[in-house]
Amino acid sequence: MRIEEIVGTAPPGSGAEQRLSGLAVSPGIAIGPAHLVEGGDLPVAECRIGETEIEAERGRFAEAVAVSLKQLRKVKTKAAALPGSAAEEVGYLLDAHLAMLSNSRLVRGVGERIASARINAERAVQLEIDEIGESFSTMRDPYLAGRIEDIRVVGTRLIRNLIKKPYVAYSAVADGAVILAEELTPADTALIDPERISGFATVSGGAESHTAIVARALGLPAVFAVPGLLERAQKGTTIVIDGTQGCVIIDPCLETVRDYETRRDALARERRGLARLRKLPAVTRDGVEITLEANIELPIELQQAAANGAMGLGLVRSEFLYMNRDDLPGEEEQYAIFASLVRGMDGKPVTVRTFDLGGDKIARSLSGHIVEAANPALGLRAIRLSLQDRRLLDPQLAAMLRAACEGPLRILLPMISTATEIRRVREAVEQVARRLRRRGVRLPKALPPLGAMIEVPGAALAADSLAAEADFFAIGTNDLIQYTLAIDRGDEQVAHLYNPLHPAVLRLIQFTIEAALRRGVPISVCGEMAGEPRFVALLLGLGLRNLSMAPRNIPRVKQRIRNLDMIAATRRARAIMDQSDTGRIAALLDDFNTIAWPN
Ligand code: PEP
Ligand code: MG
Repeated sequence: MRIEEIVGTAPPGSGAEQRLSGLAVSPGIAIGPAHLVEGGDLPVAECRIGETEIEAERGRFAEAVAVSLKQLRKVKTKAAALPGSAAEEVGYLLDAHLAMLSNSRLVRGVGERIASARINAERAVQLEIDEIGESFSTMRDPYLAGRIEDIRVVGTRLIRNLIKKPYVAYSAVADGAVILAEELTPADTALIDPERISGFATVSGGAESHTAIVARALGLPAVFAVPGLLERAQKGTTIVIDGTQGCVIIDPCLETVRDYETRRDALARERRGLARLRKLPAVTRDGVEITLEANIELPIELQQAAANGAMGLGLVRSEFLYMNRDDLPGEEEQYAIFASLVRGMDGKPVTVRTFDLGGDKIARSLSGHIVEAANPALGLRAIRLSLQDRRLLDPQLAAMLRAACEGPLRILLPMISTATEIRRVREAVEQVARRLRRRGVRLPKALPPLGAMIEVPGAALAADSLAAEADFFAIGTNDLIQYTLAIDRGDEQVAHLYNPLHPAVLRLIQFTIEAALRRGVPISVCGEMAGEPRFVALLLGLGLRNLSMAPRNIPRVKQRIRNLDMIAATRRARAIMDQSDTGRIAALLDDFNTIAWPN
């Protein structure tokens, strides 16, 4: 992250304010005195040990593992009292950390290293983590990157316990303080009381990390990846954290403080207003009802979906089942998870997608099935991989068919490019169903609907032929934009060219919607575009009536819908589709949003 440092006008008090930019990780504004958490690497020396000392050193390590387990269980008990979804979120995290201290690669590896390298336990922990980190660093998946952070956090706990260096307690921190740290662990973050601490900022950490997830679950404004943060702030200095814009202001002038106080109060009012929307329908001013569903990546998000008033799960990404493990998830394990999601949604539809692995989402458990390719995004991924190896596809289908007995479940297929792929999966579904029935397994009378993601430009252009095979469509704008514009969605160097309003993208969306409506095929959008209030009028104006998005985006999108006139939106969408210039398209949309968005 680059530092954008602006020295502003001189304030009263200690001098010029400094603005540092970082990653906007958890929205909201915090203002308070700085509390600096001591950071830096733990001092770990390497000591050689003799043959006869190996067992004693292993014993010392085993004791550190036992102490760490005890500490984590204690944190877990405390975390159970956290507000709302935070308790569940943190509990899940701590379970993962507890598992890393059981018979894991980390624990086994350290034990072996003490004996083979004849070194002290703390150094063995450090080397083992570095080695695991290196094997993870070749993977570009942000989810996996977040997991290596977890392993480091657990490793640091082990080292602290080996060198007897205790953790910093927050009990001594002044009320209303803002915490500034090199890095915070998810477990440390879970112990922050949001009633007492206003927010926090760190020098390192990613937006996909578990610490970020915990910060959002606690509603704590947070900014990460702020270089130079600790050198510039002193204990007690006033700090503003803008977790929405990704900005930290050190020693702000009076005017800045007032400005941020106003923004903080406005945000609080907006949040109260949005919370009231939960039970209200997503209906336009002229009475058109829209279905708003949730996308989830982890089962833990089910609660958030319900809390934000989701009318179903429009996309359950099943990739998580394959991550962080060496073996493949079996039918039973997948069934248990899908069934619990269906039960949890209590009669509302649940759309489970077969795995979209390959490309940039590499799972260790599939390493024997994927070979390295020059262009992985165009290679053996998603449905192509599932269809190539029925040992991967069939257990997923069996689990989904069984879970469909618990309530309305739909099966969604990623990266579809031809009608044949849908036909082949339908044959597979029928075969698996016959096999399960022969085994005496209970299945629903009608097999679940089978839908296609429309996220490849060719699929959008062939939407008529796909509509003859698919029971429903879900437009994946994330990949549709990537493949239409040849922009790697994960590459920050071309991020400025990633444009949802490019006329080519909009024409493919329009073409797909029209084909679906002509054929009577239900259609939704589940890419990130669906969760952006800015695009809502355009998507609805093009004929969409179902949007699926990250749970936290539902209230804002609902608010936009409730302020919208569908006839006007349809007219504006038509005017937009007559344009071929991106700038003109953006201007027409933003102008419509300004006039037809009274809030
Ligand atoms: C998409 O591509 O828009 C989509 C929803 O799928 P994913 O983000 O999982 O690729
Ligand atoms: Mg996709």
